[in-house]
Amino acid sequence: MEPPPADPAQPNAFDVALVGGGLQSALILLALRRLRPEARVVMVEREPQVAGNHTWCFHAGDVPAAAREVVAPLVVARWPAYDVRFEGLERTIDDPYACITSESVRREVEAASRPPGVRLVTGAEAVSVDATSVRLADGRRFGASLVVDSRGPGRFAPRGAAGWQKFVGLELEVEPALPFTRPVLMDATVAQEDGYRFFYVLPLSQRRVLVEDTYFSDAPSLDRARLARGALAWAAAHGLHGEVVREEQGVLPLPEEGIGTPTRDGVLLGGYQGGWFHPTTGYSFPVALRLALHVASRSPAEVFGPAFDRLVAEHRRQWRFAAWLNRLLFRAVQPHDRHHVLARFHRMPEATIRRFYALSTTGTDRARILCGRPPRGVSLRAALDRGLFA
Ligand SMILES: Cc1cc2nc3c(=O)[nH]c(=O)nc-3n(C[C@H](O)[C@H](O)[C@H](O)COP(=O)(O)OP(=O)(O)OC[C@H]3O[C@@H](n4cnc5c(N)ncnc54)[C@H](O)[C@@H]3O)c2cc1C
Repeated sequence: MEPPPADPAQPNAFDVALVGGGLQSALILLALRRLRPEARVVMVEREPQVAGNHTWCFHAGDVPAAAREVVAPLVVARWPAYDVRFEGLERTIDDPYACITSESVRREVEAASRPPGVRLVTGAEAVSVDATSVRLADGRRFGASLVVDSRGPGRFAPRGAAGWQKFVGLELEVEPALPFTRPVLMDATVAQEDGYRFFYVLPLSQRRVLVEDTYFSDAPSLDRARLARGALAWAAAHGLHGEVVREEQGVLPLPEEGIGTPTRDGVLLGGYQGGWFHPTTGYSFPVALRLALHVASRSPAEVFGPAFDRLVAEHRRQWRFAAWLNRLLFRAVQPHDRHHVLARFHRMPEATIRRFYALSTTGTDRARILCGRPPRGVSLRAALDRGLFA
């Protein structure tokens, strides 16, 4: 691989400039290293380190064969199945689930940045981004044939009203060893407050567990201390006591309107900012990976070709359906009844659940989800009061 020219500001000094060093940029960089190792890449991150403070999970079906070797080194834990718990429903879903962490992503990004043609620039705030360059607050400039701007959820502006997924997760080092080995994606057998409330529980090892107190709420305000107490209370109620070793939190928009094209003046908008996430679950891993494979499988000049139009069209089609579901969830059901909708969904065939999480539903899945007896709590009155048809 050729090192970039001495003046990195020259147009085309790099093939790809990645703005933001989070999940999306990391997946693009790692996919490029595997699929086009000759590509010259610069990644710019505002913080002193890339990859933030996260545990990112995904379903095995989210990873196409072409991406397995990209993702495998990042994985820190895998499970063959997961559980969901609702009033009147306890189910184990045989769908492998896996987890990557900020540490594993950071390690792989740093290793991928060692070759001469790759440059990782941290502690560097991008202040302007255009189709061929990135300018930093300290005046440095990097020129590239393709610029991908993935500066995260804070830059995503949902169109129309939206619900919010908000959570605080505590990672605990527990004593004694965990009495369960499968993740619990939703334990909604808890007091329903501030919308749909559930606990998300990941047994990361025999003595390490992540417990998240999570809400599908009408409002983005997050009472960190209250949710942290909730996570500790769930742990204690399940006999788990121990030291908090890490904390994470999120407030993610759950939009109920469509999205535009993820480009701005020739810049490719990636990650959450570009709408590459699931409107109903807030997961972005499957679609961020699709975009990463797209970028890494062709030269910068070909990125915006017909294959991109097809990728975007399919993403928008899937998005429209999921955003409409959000509209139903947030407007046709009173907040304390939302859990009935989620319970009904988790009674569906496993394949439908799997494709829904991967944002790749079929027409049959969509009909199955929308048709049939409505779940308890769906009411025309609520729909009218909450402006479903406005
Ligand atoms: C706590 C948490 C847990 C989540 N868990 C999951 C999960 O399990 N599975 C899943 O699929 N999704 C999950 N999500 C949702 C989604 O995957 C993440 O939000 C994901 O990190 C989005 O990727 P991204 O690259 O768009 O943004 P980010 O990963 O947030 O990366 C954006 C990066 O840009 C940097 N940046 C911002 N502004 C500038 C600037 N001006 N100059 C330079 N750098 C800048 C930021 O510092 C950050 O590092 C989670 C979200 C949160 C908040």
